[in-house]
Amino acid sequence: MSYRSIAIDGPSGAGKSTLAKRLSQELGFLYVDTGAIYRTVGLAARARGIDPADPSAVAELLPALTITMGYGEDGLQHMFLDGADVTEAIRRNEVSAAASKAAAVPAVRDFLLEMQRRAAREHDVIMDGRDIGTVVLPQADLKIFLTAAPEARAERRFRELLERGQQADYDQVLAEVVERDRRDTQRETAPLRRAEDAVTADTTSLDLEGSFQLLLGLIRERLGPLEGGGR
Ligand code: C5P
Repeated sequence: MSYRSIAIDGPSGAGKSTLAKRLSQELGFLYVDTGAIYRTVGLAARARGIDPADPSAVAELLPALTITMGYGEDGLQHMFLDGADVTEAIRRNEVSAAASKAAAVPAVRDFLLEMQRRAAREHDVIMDGRDIGTVVLPQADLKIFLTAAPEARAERRFRELLERGQQADYDQVLAEVVERDRRDTQRETAPLRRAEDAVTADTTSLDLEGSFQLLLGLIRERLGPLEGGGR
């Protein structure tokens, strides 16, 4: 049996993970958050005092890491690093920058590729990231390039940090968003770019519900009516 796959790529803060999670519940697909996998590598580098931007140091670290992905009873993806559940730890702001740096290292991308493809061979998936439509799942049934203006994305990220009880400064968050965009789009390996056959969805002036309905409409148009619930 062949499984269906939906690829959602775009810059950080465009709403990929929130929307993909909700769509996966609506459609009964597995949600694969690939950013969480890169974040786990970023966390591992930080924990070992390794510069995540140093390609050879990071490449040396990889064989010693055991990174696994699991799904809890809540249906949500959990990340494990050497057996420890790091799902919460990888969300810290300092891990975002480390993940983005480590993600520019080709050895890291090669190391994580098979893990991502395996999930799509074994399940109907909604997978979000930066290179899902271009590199990981070039045969995806639907590719969506989800984007929004940097200021709108920074505002969402700023609120999210405050809601998590973390300290945040909007101007700093905006500067980080812009810097991460720059790194993600200009790196040599698997840069963030829209796949030629992707549909662009701009959520700058849409709220979450509006964005959700937009994407659901695109999916139903392409894949036909899908049964919701369970997996
Ligand atoms: O999506 P999220 O912000 O959690 O991703 C963290 C970092 O991982 C991004 O800044 C990006 O550099 C990297 N990433 C990537 N390719 C993916 C997913 C994430 O390079 N498929």
